[in-house]
Amino acid sequence: MREPSGLRLEGVSRRYQGSGRGVEALSLDVRPGELLALIGASGSGKTTTLRMVAGYEPPDAGRIALVSAAGAERDITREPPQRRGFGMVFQHYALFPHMSVQENVAFGLEARRVPKAERLARATEALAGVGLAGYGPRAVQALSGGEQQRVALARALVIEPNVLLLDEPLSNLDPTLRQTTRDELREMLHRLHVTAMFVTHDQEDAFAVADRVAMLCAGRLEQVGTPEALYQAPASQVVAKFVGRGTFAPAAADGDTAIVTIGGVSQRAPLGSAHGTGDRWAVLRPESLTAVEPATGEAWHGTVQTRRFAGDHYVYRVGDIAGAAEPLEVMCEHGNFAEGDAVAVRLRPKPLALVAAQRAS
Ligand code: ADP
Ligand code: MG
Repeated sequence: MREPSGLRLEGVSRRYQGSGRGVEALSLDVRPGELLALIGASGSGKTTTLRMVAGYEPPDAGRIALVSAAGAERDITREPPQRRGFGMVFQHYALFPHMSVQENVAFGLEARRVPKAERLARATEALAGVGLAGYGPRAVQALSGGEQQRVALARALVIEPNVLLLDEPLSNLDPTLRQTTRDELREMLHRLHVTAMFVTHDQEDAFAVADRVAMLCAGRLEQVGTPEALYQAPASQVVAKFVGRGTFAPAAADGDTAIVTIGGVSQRAPLGSAHGTGDRWAVLRPESLTAVEPATGEAWHGTVQTRRFAGDHYVYRVGDIAGAAEPLEVMCEHGNFAEGDAVAVRLRPKPLALVAAQRAS
């Protein structure tokens, strides 16, 4: 197997005529063999980024390069898509219904003038690589959605792409199939050691598949890092909101302690991370909080609005907290509280993330 190349984006911008939107000064590295997920709300610039990398959308500024494992760069900014040698997988698999599975996979090699016998042999191998050994002669219409998605993946991989680009590849699958397919996708791409950029609006898909995650917001890179980094040390409120549940409350850092104040009552927890400057907010995840019987001492008092069973724990939504902008979601090991019960909400002694308090535009 040959060594995969990495991908480098330097100050890449694309502004659409008319809407004036697109992608702004994006710099991002995908390491050789790495799976990078591009996440963000609808309209944040994910598809535009992928299309620029693929060569279908010319950047107005910036540079895109392939980087060898040894660090040598090949500038591809102006190279046409077919010369880049990238594999693509889309939300709509676009398989040819009148062709067999094997013919679908071999199709990409036809345009590259690979002789027929070799095309079929390589298609057979690619199908085995995605767990579809023996499926070659079948009709694509007879396959399930998950199997069709794997055929699309085999078709993209059969050309031995420099980089694999996937745009919302799981969006057409039902929730159960989606979960197994994304685990398999990660396993396959790692085993095949291919560099991949994976677009999704779904944080769970990104966390399940990617080595690192890059979050876009209004065409700009908001944060890039491991799933753990984005979850535990979000760079902004937008990231904190996108990658998990939680609410925000005014907070300050004092050495290695975070002090969170709601309605004049302060509680402390270890400081996990602090991004931004000026006024800050703590990211209160359900697991950052717990609920106890109303008691004296430092606690935020409120009323249970809803109670949700979540397998090995319960999540209570606690409202009517003096000074709180919205109800707090609180994790509890027991289900003893009922809707309407008065409870005291306490910070758990777990690291808290602080982000800048200004609204992200
Ligand atoms: P995403 O894939 O994250 O949903 P896109 O990359 O498709 O976002 O779009 C980014 C922004 O650029 C959006 O505001 C979108 O409306 C705008 N946009 C996308 N394509 C075009 C186009 N062809 N012409 C004008 N504006 C566009
Ligand atoms: Mg899109």
